[in-house]
Amino acid sequence: MDCLFCKIAKKEAPAEIVFENDDVVAVKDIYPKAPVHILIIPKKHIISISHMEEGDKELVGGLFLIAKRIAEEKKLNGYKLLFNVGREGGQIVDHMHLHLLGGEINSMP
Ligand code: AMP
Ligand code: ZN
Repeated sequence: MDCLFCKIAKKEAPAEIVFENDDVVAVKDIYPKAPVHILIIPKKHIISISHMEEGDKELVGGLFLIAKRIAEEKKLNGYKLLFNVGREGGQIVDHMHLHLLGGEINSMP
């Protein structure tokens, strides 16, 4: 399967990893839309939230806990968490990922 985020999870494509465990990898977004822009990616290939199944509840819930921990580490006072879902929802990479956006979000063009 030719999926960029599967390749990043398997270290077959380069990325700046900020967190990793057995199920998840978190990387810096290469085109940041905020001073801190991290993508929290389950290693399992799930296309999007609209493809999530009952058995994925714990995995997807865990993404929020990791986002919270990264935000604490980076001493963010506030942040946004975002899933884009489908083309009309702004999703470009068809492998589920949670955006963590922080810092002076409104300072970016
Ligand atoms: P989305 O629009 O929700 O699918 O978000 C995809 C995100 O992936 C965008 O914010 C891109 O800037 C980011 N992106 C694309 N290619 C890479 C890459 N090789 N490494 C890190 N982030 C990437
Ligand atoms: Zn994938």
